[in-house]
Formats: sequence, structure tokens, C-alpha cells
Amino acid sequence: MSEPVVVIDNLVKRYGEKLAVDHLSIEVREGEILGLLGPNGSGKTTTINCLLSLLHYDKGEIKIFGKKMSPQAYDIKKDIGIVLQNVAVIETLTVYENIEFFCGLYIKDKAKRRQYVEEAIEMVGLGDYVKYKPKKLSGGLLRRLNIACGIAHKPKLIFFDEPTVAVDPQSRNSILDGIRRLNQEGATIIYTSHYMEEVEELCSRIVIIDSGRKVAEGTEAELKAQIKSSETITVEMKEIPDFVITDIKDINHVYEVKKSGEKLIIKCDGGSHNLIHIMNYLTEKNIDFGRVNSELPTLNDVFLEITGKELRD
Ligand code: ADP
Ligand code: MG
Repeated sequence: MSEPVVVIDNLVKRYGEKLAVDHLSIEVREGEILGLLGPNGSGKTTTINCLLSLLHYDKGEIKIFGKKMSPQAYDIKKDIGIVLQNVAVIETLTVYENIEFFCGLYIKDKAKRRQYVEEAIEMVGLGDYVKYKPKKLSGGLLRRLNIACGIAHKPKLIFFDEPTVAVDPQSRNSILDGIRRLNQEGATIIYTSHYMEEVEELCSRIVIIDSGRKVAEGTEAELKAQIKSSETITVEMKEIPDFVITDIKDINHVYEVKKSGEKLIIKCDGGSHNLIHIMNYLTEKNIDFGRVNSELPTLNDVFLEITGKELRD
């Protein structure tokens, strides 16, 4: 196998007493879209900033393209694209000028630069706004500009730190499509998010972190196969007598039954006709129920089983 594009080995970062990254090791292979999934405050941004040498760290080693990463490593940095969580553009320049400025840090040839800038504008769908100053852009458009500035020089490795937070659905879809295209054109992607749906949709492999520690990693299917839960059934019921909970717990493959408001939440660990068994039981006992829903496990279930906490905030 080829050398990984990024190797993080035993990274430790403290802010005073606070351990923000706790002996974290991750490898990223060429062509991947690696998702770094964790709740707010789990250490995603700190990890990215350490990786990019934007932040000093206490312990560990970081290699990018097989070379040790450092603040002076220009030969590494020219092949990296960075889209940071906090938008970083220049207020006095227009959309076009911003992208050209950032692209120009790496691409000196004018004709080539113009082509790259135009491709970036097309990629993020900012064609109608090239003459706008950042101040005039909506939140979503500003995020797209931030992305264009980070990727215009056609880097081989691109970091996206929560690029869709507080973004309208149209911009969000345009951002995710853009990332897929960059990946199809050959870029390796590291994508952080606390939205499990997004990571499931986009990423080829996922590392789940909590309190700066890696708690699980694998493809979406591998992660879901690691947990007990295989189906969550929700039944709406106005009144939920206690005996119903006890009886349903006795049904084959049911391992947890919980009341949540006017809903019964039933977790199953396999089996193929769980829903039918539960409906049959309720019908037999003449118990009134409303809407019924069956869901396959999500990455939230993975996070919940491993850490005992919800991923959602
Ligand atoms: P995430 O990006 O996953 O939301 P961060 O990397 O921003 O998480 O933060 C990880 C932890 O480190 C959090 O507990 C946060 O409060 C803390 N932290 C982040 N930046 C600083 C800082 N500059 N000084 C002190 N603590 C910080
Ligand atoms: Mg963050």
C-alpha cells in the first residue's frame, strides 16, 4: 500500500489544564474523504490546527505527504488547501479579487491563475457575485467564497472544518457537491463535522472523536456493524401501561424499551420481523397506537453506544 497522505501519531494538545487532544492517531490515505465526526468541543478544530502547524502541540508527530509538517514547510503547504471554520477573507477585495489573491500565493503564472480562479468560481457557484465585496454576501455565499479561496490553487489535500454550519440548504448542497467534485478530480479530503447525516452522506471513512480521543473508526457500514442496535422502532401511544413495556421487552431481539413522552422507543439487536411482532402484540392486546416508525442505526446510535452520550446537541 502507498504511504498515507497524512499520519497523525499520538498527538496531544493541552490548553492549560484542559486536554483538548488526547493521544490521537489517525492515518489518511490518498483519495479518501475522511470524516472527523465529534460533538462541539471534542477537539476537531484543535486537531486540524495542529496538523497545519497553526498551533503548537505538546506531544506527537505529524507527517504530510511522507514529510514532517512544520510552520516553514512551504513545499508541503503549497499542496494543501485550508477551509477554516471561521471565515477568513479580505473585506476590501471583491469576490474575484479575494480568490485571485489566495490563489496567487501559490500560482504565479497569470494565465493559469485566471483559469484556476474561474474554475473555483464555477465550482462554488459564485458567478453572479464576482464584483461583490464580502460584506454584501449572505452567510452561505460567504462560506462559499471562503471555500473558493481555500481550493483555487488545486491542492492535493484539502481540509474542511465544519463548512456547512449555519448555512442555508442550497449553499449546503452546493458545498457538498463541490467537495465531491474536488475528490473526484483527485484531491484527498479531511472533513470535520458534528452533523452525522453529512458525514454519512459524504465520507468514505469516518473517525469518531469524543473529548479529544478517537472512539471508533471505519466505513459507515463497519461502524454500524460494531454496535448492538440494528433497528429502532418508535410507536406513538397516548397512554403507555407498564405491562406493555415489560411484555415488549420479552419479544425476541428486543433489548431495550423506553418511554419518551407519548412515544415508545424500542431497540432491537437483529431479527427480521421485529416490527410485525410488535404490531401483532399490540393488536392482540387491543392497545391503541398512532404512527409507527422503524429506523436503521445511525452514527448517533454508534456514538451513543460507545460513549453513553448523544452526538446531537
Ligand atoms: P471542536 O472543533 O470539536 O468543536 P475545539 O477543538 O474547538 O473543538 O475545542 C476542543 C476543546 O478545547 C474544547 O473544550 C474547547 O473549549 C477547548 N479550547 C479550544 N480552543 C481553546 C483555546 N484557545 N483556549 C482554551 N481552550 C480552548
Ligand atoms: Mg471546531
